[in-house]
Amino acid sequence: MDDLIRRAAKDLAAARNVAALTGAGISIESGIPPFRGKGGLWERYDPMEFAIDALMRDPAKVWKLFVKELKEPLDRAKPNEGHKGLVKLEARDKLKTIITQNIDGLHQAAGNTDVIEYHGTFAWQRCMDCHKKYETRKVDISEIPPRCECGGILRPNIVFFGETIPAQAIRRSRQAAADCDLMLVVGTSAVVQPAAMIPGIAKDNGAKIVEINPERTPLTDDISDYLIMGGAGEVMNRIVAAMD
Ligand SMILES: [Zn+2]
Repeated sequence: MDDLIRRAAKDLAAARNVAALTGAGISIESGIPPFRGKGGLWERYDPMEFAIDALMRDPAKVWKLFVKELKEPLDRAKPNEGHKGLVKLEARDKLKTIITQNIDGLHQAAGNTDVIEYHGTFAWQRCMDCHKKYETRKVDISEIPPRCECGGILRPNIVFFGETIPAQAIRRSRQAAADCDLMLVVGTSAVVQPAAMIPGIAKDNGAKIVEINPERTPLTDDISDYLIMGGAGEVMNRIVAAMD
């Protein structure tokens, strides 16, 4: 692993335009459960319970789930060493853009400035009637479902099942992937489309793909130049230390 850490530090030092693709694995150390996989929300819930149709049908019921499973964990969550490592790479003028599949807003909370949120963000709510936005931490949940000052029901500013990913997010992330000369893939197996195509676009345009994951993924053999196996926080810390 030491060799791979040194190799990543060297590759990052040589890179001029780094992009990062992140997923649930980077936020686990902040106490945020993933949706998929072991310990994930989908072990306990049918994803359709979190769908926009369900919210329209019974907003109070679905909002109770949001509060318990998303709002409370996210209100408590703080960026971890994995997020902070990416902030350090931006401060060194290496990292330009983060493409994240996460909805927790922790990259921005950590201090990264250009974050493309593929699936939107739970850090903000929007009114279903007038589209006014509210910061989730400040939303009054003494009455469920929470409402806008216009009386409309609030919904998370996320991309639900059955909704389309904003065209701008797709366009910008394709561009970031095509422009980078090194892509860090952190805490995601990138099996979910359309995020799954992003590392391939980077590779086709000549970028190195450096994967940081606790286990091998479908990317490891086909796309990644190498995999540094481990948790995002520890690995990022070691890479940044090796760059010094
Ligand atoms: Zn409203």
